[in-house]
Amino acid sequence: MTVVTTVGVLALQGGVREHRLLLEHLGATTVPIRSERDLRGADGPRVDSLVLPGGESSTIDRLLRLYDLAEPLRETIAAGVPTLGTCAGLVLLADEVLDPAPGQQSLGLLDVSVRRNALGRQVDSAEVDLDTALGTVRVAFIRAPVVVRVGGGVEVLARRDESVVGVRAGAITGVSFHPELTGDETFHRALLQSSPAAISR
Ligand code: GLN
Repeated sequence: MTVVTTVGVLALQGGVREHRLLLEHLGATTVPIRSERDLRGADGPRVDSLVLPGGESSTIDRLLRLYDLAEPLRETIAAGVPTLGTCAGLVLLADEVLDPAPGQQSLGLLDVSVRRNALGRQVDSAEVDLDTALGTVRVAFIRAPVVVRVGGGVEVLARRDESVVGVRAGAITGVSFHPELTGDETFHRALLQSSPAAISR
């Protein structure tokens, strides 16, 4: 039996295409998530896992609320659907956002505080080989946030110099960087491996 994992990629703004290409290259089916209907039906989630891409977190936050998607997304992730948030996606997942845009909110699903644009200088935006708990990955940093507080039960997956740039709590992984821009498959493979459809294969 072949069971194909379906990954929903939040598609309101940002680097949606790169994530979809990488996941499809790994054999997953991807669906863009723009509404509650894309995300879940009467029987539960329509996806096995989720990606919240990079982009501009304050814009994605505004659109999430405009399209009545913030609460369904929060409930779906809180129910245990494995989720990978990259860069702006990490900001959206965090409990607390420092240096937010005016009125910016977050989903409050990861017990961390993040500082937006902490690695905001030109020299900090770079492609690097980064040691992580999943191995060495080739990733890009673009005006990246850093995690400035790590709550209990949150595992640190990666640091860049002294700054925490990757965390995991339960089925939620948040990273400051972009593995999808370099094509590094490590984090996407891990997401697929933790997806229920992959486990039942
Ligand atoms: N600075 C952006 C934000 O706050 C994140 C940048 C990115 O996703 N590359 O959303």
